[in-house]
Amino acid sequence: MHELPVIKSILDICLKHATINSANKILTIELKVGEMSDLEPEWMQRYFDFVSKGSIAEGAKLVIEKTPVLFQCDACSHQFKIDIKNLKAAKCPECGTDKCTLISGSEYYISNIGVI
Ligand SMILES: [Zn+2]
Repeated sequence: MHELPVIKSILDICLKHATINSANKILTIELKVGEMSDLEPEWMQRYFDFVSKGSIAEGAKLVIEKTPVLFQCDACSHQFKIDIKNLKAAKCPECGTDKCTLISGSEYYISNIGVI
């Protein structure tokens, strides 16, 4: 259950953004969540509803888009996406080495905030 602190920090960022833009209400929050992150969209919305109660973000809808897992080959620097089901067998499609470094897929960030 690590969604709660994550959601709290997302809410803080959105509230700050709303204040700077003199917004009255936050309607939508678009999030990009890496496919490897174990943040569950359904729980994120539930936690968000909980932490945003009484704020101008109350009732805002989280629009969550999953972003692909991206690896970079240690040998030839080729970057490639991989299906999380094949994660353990990550191999560079260019040179075939299995020495690859995860460069994205477990992060999350706010891509857009809809306010009025
Ligand atoms: Zn390679």
